[in-house]
Amino acid sequence: MNCNEFKECVCEIVDKRLNEERTNELLQHADICPHCKYEFQSMQATKNIILSKIKRQSVPAEVYYSIINATLNNGSSSWFKKLFGINLNPAIAFVFIAVVAVGIYSLFVPQNKGMTEEANIISQSLKNYQAVIGGAIKPQLISTEDDVHSFLSKDVSFDVNVPKMKGCSSCAGVLSSFSGVKLAHVVYQLGDKRIIYIYQADLDEAMNGTRISLPDEAKDELKKTNWYIREFADNKTIVMWRYNNTLCSAVSEMKKDELVALLIDKEN
Ligand SMILES: [Zn+2]
Repeated sequence: MNCNEFKECVCEIVDKRLNEERTNELLQHADICPHCKYEFQSMQATKNIILSKIKRQSVPAEVYYSIINATLNNGSSSWFKKLFGINLNPAIAFVFIAVVAVGIYSLFVPQNKGMTEEANIISQSLKNYQAVIGGAIKPQLISTEDDVHSFLSKDVSFDVNVPKMKGCSSCAGVLSSFSGVKLAHVVYQLGDKRIIYIYQADLDEAMNGTRISLPDEAKDELKKTNWYIREFADNKTIVMWRYNNTLCSAVSEMKKDELVALLIDKEN
């Protein structure tokens, strides 16, 4: 633990967004480092003043994510390291159970009540990707692909797909539910920065249900070709495909060819 690492996380401690172990580790540094202790205390005091004087307002999910994005992504170390204090070593199968982020469900639901947009798997996937990058969705398990697969499979009725990914330095899993529909989420870190996020849900629920849904265009493509691919202006690509009785929806900041190649090239 050094001062830079502490500084990068100090907001997260004040906002109580880290698990207990990580928080203690950081606070131990503050105990022995007067400079960081001062920084922590002044930030805590500032927050208390703000909380006592200002009425809290909800902000749209996008605003929240863009703020944490901007604050978390400008450091030098990876977001995994910042949030969990782990130097990821692909050679070691490292099992890590994080405190389940409180209210993952609420993170998936923006403030307004536009049901169709909320239920839209495309926008859920994009928002969740953003939340993963920003650290608002915390992995419940970081381990090998096989461990993540069995962790997620225990809780959902569909076949969870955790393909082995070339160049993957870390794989993580999160379970959640949306309007009572169970969802599995897989996150890969490739190299230092690049992230692939895969949203997974019951195929029948996605195609025919009302609690989560897809635009007709996507449904038609999936029925015809088993795939649906879209590139967005902000460099994000979404690739959806059918995997047994599961709908997989991968999001990454990669070109579609590159992303599809990684997803297809799964078995070794
Ligand atoms: Zn320090």
